[in-house]
Amino acid sequence: MPATKGITFATRLFIGGEFVDGAAGTSIEVVNPHDGSRLTEVAEAREIDVDRAVAAARAAFAGWRDTPAAERGRLLFALADRIEQHFDAFAELEALDTGHPIRDARFLDVPRTIANFRYYGGLADKVSGRQVPAEPGFLNYVKREPVGVVGQITPWNFPLMFTSWKLGPALAAGNCVVLKPSELVPLSTLRLAELIAEVGFPPGVVNIVPGYGHVAGQHLAEHPQADKIAFTGSTATGRRIVAASAGNLKRVQLELGGKGANIVFDDANLPAAINGSAFAIFHNQGQACIAGSRLLLHERIAQEFLERFMALAASIRVGDPLDPRTEMGPLTSKLHQERVLAYCDIARQEGGEVLLGGCVPAEPAALARGYYLQPTIVRAKPGDRVFQEEVFGPFVSITTFRDEEEAVRLANATDYGLGGGLWTTDLGRAHRVAERIRAGMVWVNCYKRVNPGAPFGGVGGSGYGRDLGVESMYEYTDAKSIVVNYDARIPPYYRR
Ligand code: NAD
Repeated sequence: MPATKGITFATRLFIGGEFVDGAAGTSIEVVNPHDGSRLTEVAEAREIDVDRAVAAARAAFAGWRDTPAAERGRLLFALADRIEQHFDAFAELEALDTGHPIRDARFLDVPRTIANFRYYGGLADKVSGRQVPAEPGFLNYVKREPVGVVGQITPWNFPLMFTSWKLGPALAAGNCVVLKPSELVPLSTLRLAELIAEVGFPPGVVNIVPGYGHVAGQHLAEHPQADKIAFTGSTATGRRIVAASAGNLKRVQLELGGKGANIVFDDANLPAAINGSAFAIFHNQGQACIAGSRLLLHERIAQEFLERFMALAASIRVGDPLDPRTEMGPLTSKLHQERVLAYCDIARQEGGEVLLGGCVPAEPAALARGYYLQPTIVRAKPGDRVFQEEVFGPFVSITTFRDEEEAVRLANATDYGLGGGLWTTDLGRAHRVAERIRAGMVWVNCYKRVNPGAPFGGVGGSGYGRDLGVESMYEYTDAKSIVVNYDARIPPYYRR
C-alpha cells in the first residue's frame, strides 16, 4: 500500500465489497497542496466501473432494505467507533490531501464525521410513517420506503465530512449507494471504504468510485439504474446534473454554492463579531459553501470594525497544514489558487480597493511551491462580480449599510440563498432580520455552527433538498400510502 510521511493510502475502487482495479487501468494523480508534490495515484473509475458499481448496489438492495433498521443503525455506530479508533490517521490524511490545517481536521472534520454517523445510527429505527384518519372500516397508513440505488457526488472542500452527511442518512434509510468523491481529494473516502468493509456492511451496500466528474460523475447522474442523485458542488455542475437526470426522472438533491452575507449591526458585541467573522471567512481558507464571504457593516462601526478585523486577518498563521500551529493552509488545488487570484484582479479592475492580501504570501519561502494565498479583504459594491459570484477562497468583500432595511436588501441581493449571519444585541432585530434573510440557514451572534440534527441546504441558486437532520431521512425515502379495507361489509363504490 503506498504511503507518505507514514500515512498509508487506499487507492483502488471499492465495488461489491472488494477493492478492485479500474477496468481501463488508468489512474488519477493525487497532489499535496502544500508543495505540489505527488502524493499517490488512485485507480480511475470509468463508465464501465460505474455500471459495475450500480449493478452491485442493485443486487444488494433487497437484502439491505429488509435488514432490520436497528441493525443498519448498529453498523453505522460501529463505523463511527472505528473512525474514532483511527482518529489521528484520518485527521492527518485529510490535512495532507486537502490542505486543511490539522488543528481544524482534529477539531471539526473528524469529530463531525463521527458525530454524523452516530446521529444517523440512532435515527435509523426512529423515522416512522403515520396513520391517516379515514372512514370507518379502513386503515390508511403511510410508510417511508428507501428510494433504492442512490448516486452520491461529493466536492473537494470537506471530503470526509460530506461523505458522512451523504452516507449516514442514505444507509440508515435502507438505500444502497454508489459514491463518487472529488477526483482532487479521494483519499479519506477510500480509507473510509476500508472501514466500511471491516465493520461488516454487506457487499454492494456501499460502493466508492473515484473518477473525473465529466466521465464517472456524468455517467452516474445519467444512469438509468440509479433512482436518485445527491450532489454537493458548484451551481454550474448542479445544472448539468439536473439535465443528466432527466432520462429516468431520478430524484435529485442539490447542495450548491453560496455567497453568505454576514451582517454586523452597530449594536453588536464587536470583539465577538470580529472573531466570528474571521472564522466565517478564513476557516478552511474560505473554501466553504456557507462562508461569510460578504461582510455587511453598519456605517457607524465600519471603520473601527475594519481596522481590528484587518489586524486579526493579517496575524493569521498561514503555513504547512500538518503544523498544529497553522491557522490557514493552502488552497486545495493549483487551478483553484489561480481562480481566486483572478478574482483579486477582477476586484481591482472593478475599482474595488484591495485592503489586505490579494496575492500569494512572500514569506516564508517554504510555502512557495504550495497553493497558498494571503487572507484578502476588498471593498465592493453590490453590482460588482466579487459581491455576486462565489470566490470560494480566503477572500471577503466589505460593503457598508445605513439601516436594517438596507442590510436586508444587500443580504438578499445575489442569486444564492445558502447561509447568512448577523451580529446584534437587539433581540427583536435578531429575529426580524433572521426571518427576512433568504437562505436555508441563518446564524445569530455566531457563524457556521452546524449540528447533525439541523437541516443543511439552500434555496435559489444554492439548490434544493436538505442534508443532515431528520429532514435528510425524508430525502432518502419515498412516502407510500396503503389503504386496507378491514370491514368486508363495506361495499365497493361500484354497484352501491
Ligand atoms: P464541482 O461542481 O466542480 O465538483 C463537485 C463534484 O462534481 C466533484 O466530485 C466533480 O468530480 C463532480 N462533477 C464535475 N462535473 C460533473 C458532471 N458533469 N457530472 C457529474 N459530476 C460532476 O464543485 P467543487 O469545485 O468540487 O466544489 C466546490 C463547490 O461546491 C462550491 O461551489 C461550493 O459552494 C459547493 N459546495 C456546496 C455545499 C453545500 O452544501 N451547499 C457544500 C460544499 C461545497
